Amino acid sequence: MNAVCYLRLSSKDQSKSLEYQETIVRDYCKRNKLKILEVFRDNGESSYTFKRNNYLALEDFIKKHKRKCQYLVVLDHDRFSRNLPEALIKIAELERKYDVKVISTNEPINLDTSDSDVFMKRAFEYLIAHRELLTIKNRTRLGILNAKEKGRFLGKAPFGYTNIKKPFNDQTIEINSSQSFIIKKIFADFEAGVPQKAIHKEVLALGFKNRGSNAINDILRNPVYAGLIKIKAFKNMSEKYVKALHEPVISETDFWLIQNVLAKKQKRKTRANEEFPLRGIIKCPCGRNLTAGWTKGNRKYYLYYKCVDHPSINIPGETMHKKFEELLKKITLQKYLVDLLNTSLLNLSDELLKDENKRQKEKTRQLRQLKEKTKKLDQKFIADQISVSVYHRCREEFKTEKKHIESMSNNLLLDKVNIENVLTVFKSGRFNFYKVYRRSDIQQKHLLVRMIFKDYLTWDQRVFTSLYINELLQFNLKKASIKTLLVLSSRNNAATDLNNRIKHIELRRALRKSTHEETKIKCQKDEKFIKSVTKFIAEIVKSRDKTEKNVLS
Ligand SMILES: [Zn+2]
Repeated sequence: MNAVCYLRLSSKDQSKSLEYQETIVRDYCKRNKLKILEVFRDNGESSYTFKRNNYLALEDFIKKHKRKCQYLVVLDHDRFSRNLPEALIKIAELERKYDVKVISTNEPINLDTSDSDVFMKRAFEYLIAHRELLTIKNRTRLGILNAKEKGRFLGKAPFGYTNIKKPFNDQTIEINSSQSFIIKKIFADFEAGVPQKAIHKEVLALGFKNRGSNAINDILRNPVYAGLIKIKAFKNMSEKYVKALHEPVISETDFWLIQNVLAKKQKRKTRANEEFPLRGIIKCPCGRNLTAGWTKGNRKYYLYYKCVDHPSINIPGETMHKKFEELLKKITLQKYLVDLLNTSLLNLSDELLKDENKRQKEKTRQLRQLKEKTKKLDQKFIADQISVSVYHRCREEFKTEKKHIESMSNNLLLDKVNIENVLTVFKSGRFNFYKVYRRSDIQQKHLLVRMIFKDYLTWDQRVFTSLYINELLQFNLKKASIKTLLVLSSRNNAATDLNNRIKHIELRRALRKSTHEETKIKCQKDEKFIKSVTKFIAEIVKSRDKTEKNVLS
């Protein structure tokens, strides 16, 4: 009778070495007068599947030597497999297809595998082995979890850290100072507003290794740099962060601050489409906000505003935008309010300059402080109080800090000329609200429209209607040119009637001399209104992008 032998060394349980297995298996074959045709060995392979390299070679061998080989001998059944269902299927298959009996060294050679008791005994052995496998798996998972809970970093150290060869106190990574200054720079530059692409280009030149378009994003989101270990949700525990054993490269506060910035950026990208400035502002007569979308025309895509409830309403975006802009150009301020606004803008310019001066002073102060620090460092180095590596590390840190300080105030390119230039746009010629609108971003645009019309602006066949217009702007309604664009509506005709009567009374009251008290209230209203217009303009001046690109156009 002939046999093939199969030995498997598990990576997790190395108590039964390959040599030991071979001795026992050879001895078993000798005792039972089996001639060994071949011995197959798998080293450190999984017990869960049969897709182990040498096991596959063994099956091949059995196939080729059909009827020449009667036995497959293993030390015990858990060498063969720990996967209960697969093991039983495999055994049955080998027996049926090739007439090969799988036998372990603790079973008699003349074992009758068709006996139900033998089957039960074997199935039970596999059952135990399978259970053990599950235990090992769970233990590994719990082990990882446990290590993480203790703040231990597992796996390959990320850029900026090095793995410690022999873990000290469970700490597995330590700062690699020749790389960590790059990590610091990435965080500092991002906080200062430098775009990720620009940061990436710069740090690659400094020796940063990670390529790929997400490399900087991945660094910014990695809690390891803040000395934190993230523990994913497990069973009934939710996701959490624990303090790591290793030293952080950046502070935890900075890390969370940057996570906030990253989250906001993502949000902004998906929201507020500059191409549909009127979405969310203008209503269908039914009261629903109009939505916007693109429709494919003959040659290109066209923008349309639509009502979800009224498919027949379909207003070309271009028409709507043009009419709305025309309307805003017609909405002006009365002479005395224009004067008030100009005074207010003059003050604004002073305020902005004062702010900018403060910022410049702060910058100079910080730079001077840094220079002091560098000087002290040099002295210490010369006096041999610090090592070369500490000296270089500090030098790199100072360099990053310097860049940070410099870029901080470069965010606002506000100088006197710049501010004056922008404000002149609003002062020169006649003031109208289109001047503010066209230079606003989408959020500001929405705010501006709400300031004038509250939430009542509706598109009703060729004309805008509103239940409300700011009282200081109501004089505009008398202009003939505005009547074709805007109608101040009321909820129903009866109300219109009443409204007209009220207006009439108001007009008569306005014509008579107002009391001292009334004048005072009126002044407060004027001031409040001019203040909010000034605030809009201040925002426009402050946003750098617009200062550079289109404010002056
Ligand atoms: Zn509708």
